[in-house]
Amino acid sequence: PLFVLPIGGADMPVVISLLNSYSGLAAALAGFALREPLLIVTGALVGASGLILTRIMCLAMNRSLGHVLFSGFGSGGGGGSAATGADGGERREAVVRTPGEAFHALEAASRVVIVPGYGMAVAQAQHVVHDLARLMQANGTQVDFAIHPVAGRMPGHMSVLLAEADVPYEQLVEMDEINARMDEVDAAIVIGANDTVNPAARDDPSSPLAGMPIIEVDRARSVFILKRSLGSGYAGVENPLFFAPNAAMILGDAKKTVEALVAEFKED
Ligand code: NDP
Repeated sequence: PLFVLPIGGADMPVVISLLNSYSGLAAALAGFALREPLLIVTGALVGASGLILTRIMCLAMNRSLGHVLFSGFGSGGGGGSAATGADGGERREAVVRTPGEAFHALEAASRVVIVPGYGMAVAQAQHVVHDLARLMQANGTQVDFAIHPVAGRMPGHMSVLLAEADVPYEQLVEMDEINARMDEVDAAIVIGANDTVNPAARDDPSSPLAGMPIIEVDRARSVFILKRSLGSGYAGVENPLFFAPNAAMILGDAKKTVEALVAEFKED
């Protein structure tokens, strides 16, 4: 078990999936030993599907399995470059906005991208997020949902939540597709996502997230980030996005914040 200790941050799901598949392989081997065909078959199924999932996750995070297991991930200076910006200069203070202030920007936007993450699941905000998307569409705005392959805590987590809230499937856009059009986006609304929008993954080779593809919301004209604090996400890495010149934080529980935005649109 000590073998996985140095593996940390965003690589953990890959390891969990791999260990899971080992349990299946172990069961299959036990099946051979006990001459129990059912155990062999079920063990092989669990083992094979775990390996497939491991591979999909590695692809999604742009890492090889060898890199995940042997790179001594957590030992890099996680969050070390905190006090300065990516260019080494002084970092600007994070701008904090109220929902009312954000409303004016969203009302004027013709293209909006909503980027959900783990925090949307914690806040159970998916239904009210769909309400907000409907109101913005009624206001003439084109609204897309950008889905990162490892947003949330399991593969497909965000798609499942949004489907539960009846968001039409056509409105969900994959990471690569939305990144290709990010320059045309007037406002990105990040709802409880953090690692999956962290520009350090792209810009800072020393970041523990380096190499993981992200949804590049920092390239949108403006970004609103809905979360409770300036704290880090699953990988425990600071996010320079919060201090970017085109970014503003709307602090608080995501569901309450989105409800406040919905109220602004309804009053209008
Ligand atoms: P993150 O885990 O990076 O960040 C989630 C953010 O949500 C936190 O920073 C937190 O900030 C915020 N949050 C929590 N509760 C609330 C709330 N009630 N209201 C508003 N915000 C809230 O999320 P991402 O989805 O961007 O990234 C997923 C991470 O999980 C990746 O690192 C991925 O590798 C990892 N992972 C993914 C798996 C998968 O298969 N999808 C499996 C296991 C791990 P604050 O506390 O300030 O509110």
